[in-house]
Amino acid sequence: MTKHELEYQEHLLPLTREELVARLREALSPKRFAHVCRVEQTAIQLAEQNGVDVEKASIAGLCHDYAKQRPDQDFIDVIHAKQMDPDLLNYGNAIWHGVVGAEMIKDELGVGDEDILNAIRQHTVGSNYMTKLAQIVYMADYIEPGRDFPGVEAARQITAQDLGAGVAYQTQHTLEYLIHKGQPVYPQTLVTYNAWVPKYQKENH
Ligand code: GDP
Ligand code: FE
Ligand code: FE
Repeated sequence: MTKHELEYQEHLLPLTREELVARLREALSPKRFAHVCRVEQTAIQLAEQNGVDVEKASIAGLCHDYAKQRPDQDFIDVIHAKQMDPDLLNYGNAIWHGVVGAEMIKDELGVGDEDILNAIRQHTVGSNYMTKLAQIVYMADYIEPGRDFPGVEAARQITAQDLGAGVAYQTQHTLEYLIHKGQPVYPQTLVTYNAWVPKYQKENH
């Protein structure tokens, strides 16, 4: 079976891969659509290398930025309707499209698998505990072949050797970047930093 004919297991998603791809093409600009396709392929490779369910990696990779181009008001409405943490209202699209976007992915696309939804919730800000699937989506988003920033090659090499070390690398560099730019840091980003970065520093020295 080619990847295009792939029927996802019913309990993961009631759509074929082709139907899901069509939904994403509708929801996203061509550039963003190309990004989610590359994240899917990178996530599948990392799943094969790390013994993780490839179908879950495909679905999570494709869906992770589904909500990225929605207007702010859509997220604000969901935060209120689902009585999510009101502190979310102090942030913006960068945080919302994963944390709040997962709710739209559940309700609008029918993704019911909590492992996939958590990976999507955590794809920007991480978490103290991340499943291998969540680590894969977090890293695939950062190192997909279209990414080009100083350090991306190091991130690719580290991730190929040790997925968790890749998570630590990205978390440290994202926090450095946010601080350098004077951007607000979402509390969970700091939680992720404390859970992952010192641990890998110790192991590497
Ligand atoms: P993308 O959706 O594929 O562009 O990638 P991400 O979802 O990983 O990241 C979206 C943006 O959120 C990036 O520019 C990150 O630097 C930024 N970001 C990550 N963590 C935080 C945070 O704690 N606070 C803020 N303000 N931005 C963050
Ligand atoms: Fe994203
Ligand atoms: Fe992304």
